[in-house]
Amino acid sequence: MRIVDIREVTRPISSPIRNAYIDFSKMTLSLVAVVTDVIRDGKPVVGYGFNSNGRYGQGSLIRERFRPRILEAAPDSLLDESGNNLDPHQVWACMMSNEKPGGHGERSVAVGTVDMAIWDAVAKIEGKPLYQLLAERYGNGTPKREVFVYAAGGYYWPGQDLQALKNEMQGYLDRGYKVVKKKIGGGSLADDLKRIEAVLSILPAGCKLAVDANGRFDLKTAVEYAKVLSQYDLFWYEEAGDPLDYALQAELANHYQGPMATGENLFSMQDARNLIRYGGMRADRDWLQFDCALSYGLVEYLRTLDMLKEHGWSPSRCIPHGGHQMSLAIAAGLGLGGNESYPDLFQPFGGFPDGVQVKDSIVTLPELPGIGFEGKADLYAEMKALGEA
Ligand SMILES: [Mg+2]
Repeated sequence: MRIVDIREVTRPISSPIRNAYIDFSKMTLSLVAVVTDVIRDGKPVVGYGFNSNGRYGQGSLIRERFRPRILEAAPDSLLDESGNNLDPHQVWACMMSNEKPGGHGERSVAVGTVDMAIWDAVAKIEGKPLYQLLAERYGNGTPKREVFVYAAGGYYWPGQDLQALKNEMQGYLDRGYKVVKKKIGGGSLADDLKRIEAVLSILPAGCKLAVDANGRFDLKTAVEYAKVLSQYDLFWYEEAGDPLDYALQAELANHYQGPMATGENLFSMQDARNLIRYGGMRADRDWLQFDCALSYGLVEYLRTLDMLKEHGWSPSRCIPHGGHQMSLAIAAGLGLGGNESYPDLFQPFGGFPDGVQVKDSIVTLPELPGIGFEGKADLYAEMKALGEA
């Protein structure tokens, strides 16, 4: 078998919203189709991937470096031992040939996007859901199809008042979520507290609020917020300072006893390891949000999970950023703690297969071959236009 073509296109996922750092009015992503010559159900198997929100499309890197490396490689060098399927680790090594270590930036997004499509193709060729394949190859053999999800929203947007914020959050509760998240750091501390209290005022018992500063704060501000936020029983306090400022994160742990979360902007196993080594994160309560679609894909994420194990961390402390089905499959296959979800944003790429309902903040993944994109009609329509034209 061989890869016949790799197609990519940049798609808009713009929204009139902002967090403490960026607005999403010009946000894009790369959509990739890996076309193989393997026939299933009468047509070639095509694997699909895309990068999650926040880092823009990566078309030029894919076109100039990663696509040609794969297509120019000897086809057999990309296969597993059976010779009947791709080996994602071999494909990854091929993409990363002639790449220096360190400097993990946009290329980790480009590689992660192609890597997602490779895994989708591999599971489709085996005729099973990716979560099943992952549980068999790297997990305990039995996937857990029920996955915790929380609703990420509470962005800053034009004309938003406290009532509109409450209405937004009520909408998530009405759709079955028990944990909701809102942004902080995009206004003054006093304004943020009014917004937090407005949300808390509508949360029923058993529901929780998480807050996310998107890396906005210096140490002084992060600690000021920590002291005030300590009065609430929050689900977590996310990404207070710059993602690479491990000393800030470690110091913050001295001022905040509740759960902290971070990691969505760490794009390699090495960066994740530095967080674990130097960031003061606590394996008994804190949360890790590394997103494979932004950080060299699942091949690298497997290395990150191994690293976490060596440092005494359970995969159940990982709740990835991004709201895509790839991380849902990893969560179900390898026992992560759950996945982010954006009920009203970044469509059609985010979300769940059609018909999947959130109940008590849990979704149950259907049994679809691959990652499951074919089960989401609006998303699959875009994919099919690229991969099966
Ligand atoms: Mg975040």
